[in-house]
Amino acid sequence: MTTTRRVAFGFGGNYRFALMHSRPLKNYLWGTWKVRCPNKHDDTVTQATAQHECEKCHQQVFKDGKVTVVCPNGHPNEVPLNGKKESVICQNGGCKLECRRDK
Ligand SMILES: [Zn+2]
Ligand SMILES: [Zn+2]
Repeated sequence: MTTTRRVAFGFGGNYRFALMHSRPLKNYLWGTWKVRCPNKHDDTVTQATAQHECEKCHQQVFKDGKVTVVCPNGHPNEVPLNGKKESVICQNGGCKLECRRDK
């Protein structure tokens, strides 16, 4: 008895789409950022990030709807997340640099 089955890969192209939408993100950073944990370690995150554990001390970086991003001059900026955050201008002194790193 020989049964030949063709496996349908027709939905393969939607896999990534389905994956991205299986866990809806509400409040998140979009892009490449340096985020600072409560113990002042900096990690780099990319793309959509709503949760991040510090690679060194495993503290959650996102707390109470806020995250601390670090500008290219090393200034920390605590920002509230409300939807998709794509841009943060450094509020330290006259710095005014974009904290996002891939712009
Ligand atoms: Zn840490
Ligand atoms: Zn700055």
